[in-house]
Amino acid sequence: MDRINLSLADARALAVRALSANGCDQANAEAVADIMMVAERDICESHGLFRLPGYVTSLRNGKVDGKAAPVASLIAPSIVRVDGKGGFAPLAIATGMPDLIEQARTQGMAALALRNIYHFAALWPEIEMLTEASLVGMAFTAASPMVAPAGGTKPFFGTNPMAFGFPRDGAPPMVFDQASAAMARGDVMIHARDGHELPPGCGIDADGNPTTDPNKVLEGAQLPFGGYKGSGIAMMVELLTGGLMGDLFSYEAGEKDNADGGPPPGGELILAFDPARFGDADGWRAHAEGFFTELSSQDGVRLPGRRRHINRQKTPVDGIQVNRSLYETITELAG
Ligand code: NDP
Repeated sequence: MDRINLSLADARALAVRALSANGCDQANAEAVADIMMVAERDICESHGLFRLPGYVTSLRNGKVDGKAAPVASLIAPSIVRVDGKGGFAPLAIATGMPDLIEQARTQGMAALALRNIYHFAALWPEIEMLTEASLVGMAFTAASPMVAPAGGTKPFFGTNPMAFGFPRDGAPPMVFDQASAAMARGDVMIHARDGHELPPGCGIDADGNPTTDPNKVLEGAQLPFGGYKGSGIAMMVELLTGGLMGDLFSYEAGEKDNADGGPPPGGELILAFDPARFGDADGWRAHAEGFFTELSSQDGVRLPGRRRHINRQKTPVDGIQVNRSLYETITELAG
C-alpha cells in the first residue's frame, strides 16, 4: 500500500491547519488534532488522521460548531456535567476532566456526563487521563445505528464502545477499550478501502445474510461481539448515555444526523474511582500488581493496552505511516 512517512509534529501541524481552515477555532483545532495524534502515536489508524475528512465534512455543512465553547457545571456532589454546545468531544472532555478528577479524589467516585457533543474517537485517551491521576476509569459512548441487536437483522445499536482502565505501579496502565460490535466501524471502512475481506461474524448484508464483504456489511448491519452477550453490553451503553444522561439513543442520533460520514451526535459517560478511598489506601497498588503478575505469567497472555504502549515507544522516533491518498486529501483540505 502506498504510504508516506510523517513525524508526529508535522502530522499534528497539518491536522491543525486543516481543521482551522474549515471552521475550527484554535482551541478546538488543537484538541481534535491532539486526539487524532495520540491515536497515530499508538498506531490506532482507524481513529487517527483517517477521521479528519469526516470532521471537516461536518464542519463544512454546519452540523458541528468548530468554535463551540463547552461549559462544565457540578450538578450534584460528584456529578459533573459538560454541555458541549454542539462541538466535537475532545474540547468538552478537556473542559470536564479537571473537575471529574477533583470530585473523584474528594468523594471517592465521580461521574462526568458529556452532553451535546459529537464523538468520533477512541475512548482510551480519556481513560489514560484518569489512570495518570491514579484513578480507575470507565467510559461509554453510543453512536448511530450500525449494529443489529441479537436476533435482529437491521441496524439499531451504535458500535457503542466501553473502556476500562486501572493504574499500575511503574508500568503503563491496563486499559481495555472495545466496541460492542465485533469490529469497530472505522476498521470495517478501512477493510473496504483496502479491499480486504472481514473475518467471519462481523456483519450481515442488507438481506440479513452473513457476509465477509465489508461493503455489503456497510450496506447491511454489523453484528455485536459474542451474540446476545455483546448485544447486552451495547444496550447497557445506550441506557447509560441515552437513558441515564438524557442524551440521544443511537436510533435518535440516526434520525437527527445528516449521515455525512462525520461524527454522530450523542453523549459520553465517564466514571472515575479513587482506589485510595475504597478501603485499602496503602496496599491497593501492590495488591493489583500481584494480580497483573499472576495474570501475565501464563504463556500467550498479554495485558490490553500493551500493543499501544509498545507502539508509543517507536513512533516518536520512526514517525507514522499515512495512506498517501489520505495525506493528499488532508493537504487539500488544509489549503
Ligand atoms: P480491538 O478489538 O482492536 O481491541 C479491543 C481491546 O482489546 C483493546 O484494548 C486491545 O488492546 C485489547 N486486545 C486486543 N487483542 C488482545 C489480546 N490478544 N490480548 C489482550 N487484549 C487484547 O478494538 P475494537 O475494534 O473493538 O475498537 C477499536 C476502537 O474503536 C476503540 O478504541 C473504541 O473506543 C473505538 N470506537 C469508537 C466509537 C465511537 O463512537 N467513538 C465507536 C466504536 C469504537 P490493544 O489496544 O493493546 O491492542
